[in-house]
Amino acid sequence: MSQAGAAGTIVVGAGIVGICCGLSLLEKGEAVTLIDRDAPGQGASYGNAGVISPWSTVPQSLPGVWKSIPKWLLDPEGPVAVRPGYLPKALPWALRFLRAGRPDKITGISDAMAALTGPSVDLYRHHLRGTGHESLVRDSWYLHVYRRAEDAHLGDAAGRLRARHHTPMEVISGHQLRDIEPALSPDFKAAIVIRDQARAIAPGRIGQVLAEKIQALGGQVLRGTVHQLTPGDNGWTVDSDLGSLTASKVVMAAGAWSARLLAPLGLRLPLEAERGYHLVFKNPGVVLNNSIMDVDGKFVTSSMDTGVRSAGTAEFAGLDAPPDYRRARIFKRLTKRMLPDLNTEEVEEWMGARPSFPDSLPCIGELPGLSGLFAAFGHSHYGLMMAPATGRVVADLVSGTRPNMDLAPYRAERFS
Ligand SMILES: Cc1cc2nc3c(=O)[nH]c(=O)nc-3n(C[C@H](O)[C@H](O)[C@H](O)COP(=O)(O)OP(=O)(O)OC[C@H]3O[C@@H](n4cnc5c(N)ncnc54)[C@H](O)[C@@H]3O)c2cc1C
Repeated sequence: MSQAGAAGTIVVGAGIVGICCGLSLLEKGEAVTLIDRDAPGQGASYGNAGVISPWSTVPQSLPGVWKSIPKWLLDPEGPVAVRPGYLPKALPWALRFLRAGRPDKITGISDAMAALTGPSVDLYRHHLRGTGHESLVRDSWYLHVYRRAEDAHLGDAAGRLRARHHTPMEVISGHQLRDIEPALSPDFKAAIVIRDQARAIAPGRIGQVLAEKIQALGGQVLRGTVHQLTPGDNGWTVDSDLGSLTASKVVMAAGAWSARLLAPLGLRLPLEAERGYHLVFKNPGVVLNNSIMDVDGKFVTSSMDTGVRSAGTAEFAGLDAPPDYRRARIFKRLTKRMLPDLNTEEVEEWMGARPSFPDSLPCIGELPGLSGLFAAFGHSHYGLMMAPATGRVVADLVSGTRPNMDLAPYRAERFS
């Protein structure tokens, strides 16, 4: 079946990144069609931890991170797992990941992260305004909680990168922590508090609401699987199970699946599906007022609209391996340790693929040798909060406006 040409810009993928690209393109007066095989906002954008922080400026790879990796891999409840058989495929990515954590690399990466996370809260408020769902994004602090008081300090590499970006933060005692979050276990002896940020109480719902806004503003949101992109004289043809759509420009925002869709065009990008899990405790019996990071367990817990959600872990198993929900069930014991009064009887399990490059930065911008095809993918652990600024930059590029920031750190060419 062939379909009449769609003018303007096609955005492949209606996760939170594609949705924010769509909204910003519409604000620029561009005609927009989003196409996703699923309902909007249901990929990684559905199940994340909901942290929206202008202060997320610490990359995943830091100097010395390699020392922790063997311990994490050997612990069945640890934060990192590699599926047997996948190690040879994951190894080149892992080596690039370690290289990205060198002291001479992390400041530049951190600055590039700050440029995308900085406006996150303001831009979500802007996008949600007038939808009637403004309360989906709440003011919040981020509490990094520690069982050993001496571990909570601001003098390490992460603290220095945060200080560089003027993060409003301080160390507090266990007593102060429980005044803020009475539900937390007394085992936590100290915390780092990061103020002035926000949290999503239903990340997937934000995607749905903003996709409805796209339609209300005249954009199209189609449901179909994209199979192939082909350049032509006047733009691009996007072949999908809805037929062939044509557009003058295309934005690739298919999250962890983006590199696979681009490979036939000759692009080889080190994009991994860094699979994460969550467990929602449906009738939790406790409430958290902020986003809580258990620093030992490397997971984040937050009160959401459907219950208390613990989310995290990094599993390397490729794009197509079935979920291993034991990784989600780990959160039952870990979260009970964090919140002793938690009711753990009714839970919901979920797995999603973070689209991760080894240097914690996404690809944004026109792809090399592929005029009119723009990247907006690879936001790893930070895609919820980086999506609105990514949308703005992509809309500038597509509409021919010079973006007000240096795009060099996000170029696809950095991997060649
Ligand atoms: C456990 C966990 C916790 C996280 N916590 C946070 C957090 O607290 N804060 C934060 O900022 N980020 C967090 N993240 C990261 C964040 O969720 C992701 O970076 C973000 O959702 C990526 O958005 P996306 O739109 O690029 O990808 P997705 O949401 O995965 O969207 C990609 C879309 O492309 C579609 N698609 C793929 N292939 C095709 C095709 N061939 N045809 C049509 N459609 C296609 C998919 O159906 C999907 O809807 C977390 C992630 C995980 C897994």
